Amino acid sequence: MADFDVDLFVIGGGSGGVRAARIAAGYGARVMVAEEYRMGGTCVIRGCVPKKLLVMGSHIRHELADAAGFGWTIANATFDWPTLIANKDKEIGRLEAAYTTNVEKSGTRIVKTRAVLEDAHAVRLATGEKVTAKYVLIATGGAPNHGRMIEGIEHVISSNEAFHLEKLPRRIVIQGGGYIALEFACIFAGFGSDVTVVYRGDNILRGFDDDVRAHVRSEMEKEGISILTGCTVEKVEKSGEGYISHLSSGSSLASDQVMFAIGRHPNVANLGLENAGVAINPANGGITVNAYSQTSVPNIYAIGDVTNRVNLTPVAIREGHAFADTVFGKRDVKADHVDVPTAVFTQPEIGTVGLTETQARAQYSHVDIYKTTFKPMKATLSGRDTRILMKLVVDGATDRVLGCHIVGDYAAETIQAVAIAVKMKATKADFDSTVALHPTAAEELVTMRTPTARHVRLAAE
Ligand code: FAD
Ligand code: NDP
Repeated sequence: MADFDVDLFVIGGGSGGVRAARIAAGYGARVMVAEEYRMGGTCVIRGCVPKKLLVMGSHIRHELADAAGFGWTIANATFDWPTLIANKDKEIGRLEAAYTTNVEKSGTRIVKTRAVLEDAHAVRLATGEKVTAKYVLIATGGAPNHGRMIEGIEHVISSNEAFHLEKLPRRIVIQGGGYIALEFACIFAGFGSDVTVVYRGDNILRGFDDDVRAHVRSEMEKEGISILTGCTVEKVEKSGEGYISHLSSGSSLASDQVMFAIGRHPNVANLGLENAGVAINPANGGITVNAYSQTSVPNIYAIGDVTNRVNLTPVAIREGHAFADTVFGKRDVKADHVDVPTAVFTQPEIGTVGLTETQARAQYSHVDIYKTTFKPMKATLSGRDTRILMKLVVDGATDRVLGCHIVGDYAAETIQAVAIAVKMKATKADFDSTVALHPTAAEELVTMRTPTARHVRLAAE
């Protein structure tokens, strides 16, 4: 491979790019990574990690309120947003440094600059330097999408800015009904902000199981979050220190901040893709790849959010690892996108794996549903008005568990373990033969004996 400056040039030092670089370097490849912003990428710098820290901080309000029923009196509890933001930033700085060190320790060289493709084997850095590479990996991630250019769009923040607000907004309007909109709605509500979610469809979280959607919406509303469906923000006007959002329904909302979380687009613009002939998938705007993450140009691969497949950190990491194993480890490895567990860190949180009831009924002739909602034990003393939802979707013909959906505290932790069983194709009988662990909420997963619904589709349907 001596004809090129490096064996692998990675564009993007995020979750996927970093994993690929380290594994490839471990196989003896000469690797260079370009990062134009901060090492660690979206997840570490302005995604999963800072988000989860804010989620944790906002939960404490519940803990304080719940404490009274357990005999605690916690006087004069106050919250200081700038302290939380500063502590969060310190931790993100530590992680960024750890990412940098770990990449460098693998023998990879980091260049802190933007890189664009010049041709299939050459990358141009913003410094002017040209680097030739046998293989190029595009791992440039995605960025917030603000949709069409409505009047006053310049006043609207995205999740990027939400992590750095100087003040906690007293009132915030958040447009969107997906992961980011709802996670931030619950974060801000947890800290005491007055939150209104504006969503264009008839219910939030399209694509999730319908029972989950209804349950989460009702739990969020019980927390005082106002969810307006069937409308969009059409115009945002500055008004004194705050803003007025004008909605398609004709009404308007005053707030201190307006945030849009209406999806993210793959970072493909001005990347020189056309110089190398890398094709874009017209269906999703991401880079077209095959099962090995190989693009239309054989020596160029793309992984993670820039391919717009399953936009989650562990998936980007798997794709990066599989790429390095295949190309530099000479092992045939494809990233598996089936039964990927996912969580939405709302309050209460959602954990889900496998098929929704709707998907299962479209794909299988016999579908059994096991569903329960119940009051968490903690709420018996705290008095909190909340319920847990647990649901199993089972193939009625083979007894295989096709999907599991949980809404409640620790749903994300629980679903990670359930995902192993679902991935192993466990049957409902396997769940039933597992002894319950008492007293937990998760024991319901192995004690639901009777289907709450049985769906049988006739051959003609
Ligand atoms: P990224 O991590 O985005 O990395 C791409 C990197 O490339 C960036 O650092 C960027 O600066 C750099 N770059 C771009 N173009 C260039 C260029 N031309 N030259 C040099 N560098 C360039 N996922 C989860 O699994 N769990 C969560 O809880 C979760 N929470 C999230 C919360 C938020 C608010 C957001 C926005 C996302 C969240 N995600 C979560 C999604 C997750 O962050 C992404 O799926 C993941 O980061 C994708 O990794 P990646 O390697 O594809 O790209
Ligand atoms: P999502 O795709 O999850 O949600 C986008 C939301 O915006 C949907 O409700 C969508 O509505 C709505 N929307 C889309 N376009 C418009 C428009 N033009 N006007 C009004 N509303 C619109 O995207 P997010 O931005 O929330 O998050 C991006 C991705 O990041 C997620 O899909 C996920 O992969 C990842 N992520 C993962 C997290 C986790 O693992 N916990 C947390 C945060 C992000 P509709 O449904 O009608 O299309």
